[in-house]
Amino acid sequence: MTAQLQGIGMTSRRTRMRLVQRLREAGIESDRVLDVLGEVPRHIFLDEALSHRAYEDTSLPIGYGQTLSQPYIVARMTELMLAHEPERVLELGTGSGYQTAVLARLFDEIYSVERIKPLQDRARDRLRQLHARNVLLKHADGGMGWPDRGPFDGIIVTAAPVEIPQELLMQLRDGGVLIAPVGEEDQILVEVTRRGDRFDHKELEPVHFVPLLGGVVR
Ligand code: SAH
Repeated sequence: MTAQLQGIGMTSRRTRMRLVQRLREAGIESDRVLDVLGEVPRHIFLDEALSHRAYEDTSLPIGYGQTLSQPYIVARMTELMLAHEPERVLELGTGSGYQTAVLARLFDEIYSVERIKPLQDRARDRLRQLHARNVLLKHADGGMGWPDRGPFDGIIVTAAPVEIPQELLMQLRDGGVLIAPVGEEDQILVEVTRRGDRFDHKELEPVHFVPLLGGVVR
């Protein structure tokens, strides 16, 4: 088989459907989320040398010491978010832009912050390729959120803070939800729901993310 044909085989809809089946078996229940993961081409968010592994349920390097998250965790966090039916969603850690593309298919307005400029530039190209017009990107340290665009119905953090920054919680509207990995070596996926001045924390499952870092890279 030629390299080109192999490439097509590796990135075809059928390959994507196998991933969807695995995610279902791994416990993802939302058909809407599974449909979107079946639709969004994950291989375009990777360097060509890695694109043949795009539909494995694993995280993959995207340069600058960062990773494209594992499909299972993308699906899981999206499913948690979808349960709250948010309209305006803030994402911290655009990275490759894959999670952003998934969110853009389900919610009205996506605001996504990335601290490494070259990653943001690449993500922008890919999102444009997919005609994701409801996405606004910003190059900044997202630890403080995106105050002038808040409040948000949902906040999804795709890099792990040691603890959830208070400023971020203040950008949740009443009834809004924040989903984030929290911790250093041992991380746990946390869901925080705002109820007036009260913030209800729920710890969900162990996860492994790159750390949320301060400052920006140009
Ligand atoms: N959702 C992305 C995950 C990328 S890894 C994907 O699936 O491709 C996490 C990303 O968070 C990295 O790109 C990293 O640069 C970014 N990041 C880490 N700390 C950040 C901060 N304080 N503000 C904005 N982005 C941050």
